[in-house]
Amino acid sequence: MIRVTVWNEYAHEKTDEKVREIYPNGIHNAIADFLRCDDIVVRTATLDDEECGLTEEVLNDTDVLLWWGHMKHQMVPDEVAVRVRDAVLKGMGAIFLHSGHHSKPFKMLMGTSGNLSWREDGDMERIWTVSPGHPIAQGIGRYFELPHEETYAEPFSIPQPDDIVFMGWYEGGEVFRSGCTFHRENGKIFYFQPGHESFPTYYDSNVQTIIRNAVKWACPVKRVDALECPHIKKIGTE
Ligand code: ZN
Repeated sequence: MIRVTVWNEYAHEKTDEKVREIYPNGIHNAIADFLRCDDIVVRTATLDDEECGLTEEVLNDTDVLLWWGHMKHQMVPDEVAVRVRDAVLKGMGAIFLHSGHHSKPFKMLMGTSGNLSWREDGDMERIWTVSPGHPIAQGIGRYFELPHEETYAEPFSIPQPDDIVFMGWYEGGEVFRSGCTFHRENGKIFYFQPGHESFPTYYDSNVQTIIRNAVKWACPVKRVDALECPHIKKIGTE
């Protein structure tokens, strides 16, 4: 059984009628709904919950954390962001969605600004599978199209990914590394670009397959209780 926590700042859905129409119960619940199955148990957490719903206890009970945030990144307390970062270093998987590229935990884990270029014209995005052998790409064809997405364009200020699984192309000609994987100590991280709040992206079956695959891929292989730098003795002298 994989234990998933879907975190959402849950702000646009409360203030923007158009977004509320698409995600009446919030983006977190739309994602939780398609992830929930016999193999995956899902809880949700939002910015309004105490400690953002991300206590030590919750993170210890989470195999993979999904993160959606946009306009309230700065409202996440530093200590919560550090707690998430450390949970990943200890082995928890993390999937950062769309504008999560500017979230505190993502930037801490990347060590870069997470900056990119963007425009919001509702362009069609064609997402190319560039690593067809990767576990996250299973069930996805050579490419698929989203009728409307926010354009995210290179350069994307991230460290070199372990794998670029998907590459996005937009009608305007821009390209973007839409699906990237990273390892940080014991934890695995997937960044996935689609998911602008004013388009129904999380109802797309390819997007759902990719996120489901990513949850399975990011599941911890090794998890440690603490981040340690132990003093050791020479073999044979212990
Ligand atoms: Zn957006």
